[in-house]
Amino acid sequence: MSSPAPSTADRALTTLQNVWGYSAFRGVQGEIIEQVAGGGNALVLMPTGGGKSLCYQLPSLLRQGVGVVVSPLIALMKDQVDTLRQNGVRAAYLNSTLAPHEAREVEQALQRGDLDLLYVAPERLLLPRTLELLEHAPVALFAIDEAHCVSQWGHDFRPEYQQLSVLPQRFPHLPRVALTATADDRTRADIKSVLHLHDAPEFISSFDRPNIQYRVMLKSSPKTQLLEFIREEHAGDAGIVYCLSRKSVEDTARWLQAQGIDAVPYHAGLSPRERSHAQERFLNEEGLIVVATVAFGMGIDKPNVRFVAHLDLPKSMEGYYQETGRAGRDGLPGTAWMVYGLSDVVNVKRMLAQSDAPEEVKRVESAKLDALLTYCETAACRRQTLLAYFGETQARPCGNCDTCLHPPQARDMTREAQMALSAVVRTGNRFGAAHVTDVLMGRETERIVALGHHQLPTFGVGAAHDEKTWRGVLRQLVSLGYLAADDHYGLNATPRSRALLKGETQLQLREDALIPQTGTRKKEK
Ligand code: ADP
Ligand code: ZN
Repeated sequence: MSSPAPSTADRALTTLQNVWGYSAFRGVQGEIIEQVAGGGNALVLMPTGGGKSLCYQLPSLLRQGVGVVVSPLIALMKDQVDTLRQNGVRAAYLNSTLAPHEAREVEQALQRGDLDLLYVAPERLLLPRTLELLEHAPVALFAIDEAHCVSQWGHDFRPEYQQLSVLPQRFPHLPRVALTATADDRTRADIKSVLHLHDAPEFISSFDRPNIQYRVMLKSSPKTQLLEFIREEHAGDAGIVYCLSRKSVEDTARWLQAQGIDAVPYHAGLSPRERSHAQERFLNEEGLIVVATVAFGMGIDKPNVRFVAHLDLPKSMEGYYQETGRAGRDGLPGTAWMVYGLSDVVNVKRMLAQSDAPEEVKRVESAKLDALLTYCETAACRRQTLLAYFGETQARPCGNCDTCLHPPQARDMTREAQMALSAVVRTGNRFGAAHVTDVLMGRETERIVALGHHQLPTFGVGAAHDEKTWRGVLRQLVSLGYLAADDHYGLNATPRSRALLKGETQLQLREDALIPQTGTRKKEK
């Protein structure tokens, strides 16, 4: 009696169980695998931790030949290959870390058809020699991981990725699957254009990470706030703390250590050995905290990271989403915690303004930053705001973010905003937040008197509010684009502010003074 040949779907499931030991596919994994195993192209958008790897690894096993995986993450290739080998998959990698004789061995295995999966760095793939090798080897498919790197609009632009258009040109009949966790419309369009995926089906998974609790609060004394957060909610947990500069990475790590917390620094200024040591410790130990710049984390697969803390603002919503996405990959509760303040907003805006990127790129970047600032300032559900940015609508507030758990007061602050704007304008559009606040509160400091600012009509008009409120108003005005900051942190009113000054627009602001800070709030479950 002959039984019918098993369908691709059946073979896929059997392989999943036999090789990986998982019982079922997650979300759209199964559909993607069928599409690619059947020889089709695909564009896969899945959040970090969603399970992208299987979408190319499994079809590579189902098809004849080797699956070639293009990845920019050289540092992680060895780990990925080791894991696959432990599962009995014939995997190898080609990148600059291999000695010539090692690379030769991999190339020979490739030619003999002895590989199921080959990870290769883009610059290696693009070498004429490698391309020629591949033309004469049995290739099952090309997987382009971290595909958003093709886009110069993104935060991870890699010029080599743009040259990957050789793949559709030289291997038009082989399936291509592009995968990424971050792609707005523009990036998606770039991926399709470089990799010729115009007709490929798009598989888009929800970006929601329901187990991550999002919290954003004002920065007062960031290290102490962080320490309280860790002690009260994540004692002994593994976590990542992101800082903007190498120096603050070093400072923060040292300070945490001094408080008895197991923390290591990680940034691009450390030697490769120090970095891989930190990374290995993080992967293998239970409760280590890595204090890092954004150099850390891309592609790191540690399922039980319990929190991601930002001591400085990321540059975009994409960056924020990707970094916070490293928490709770195992599906258990995780916290995305961030503090930010007026000077952060000013700093990041200045950095953008001063970069020598082309004007158009700057405009896009500044729009991305503004989206993040709106997210920070929102009185609405953080998750709804975050997902809306990625084009997803959630009908209801999530109940698992700080604004849902402790709804902030939003108040009509048009009058206060007008006072602050006119204090900025009357003092000549050049003083920083501290001085403007002194003027509003009517403080006769030496500087105020010397400048004659105590004689201005705005002097003291804001005495009814405290300093914190004025700082909050100024910060929100900068975040929302009514005020801009110059190179010396001086504030100036933007053209947008005119309507507000004339009373043609209203402004709802968060009453920040009323928002509970860490320490005063109860532990959230
Ligand atoms: P991504 O590349 O999208 O960030 P990974 O491919 O690294 O995600 O997968 C994240 C985690 O989920 C890994 O630990 C992986 O082994 C696990 N995983 C993926 N697919 C499944 C599945 N179908 N069943 C169980 N675990 C899975
Ligand atoms: Zn919410």
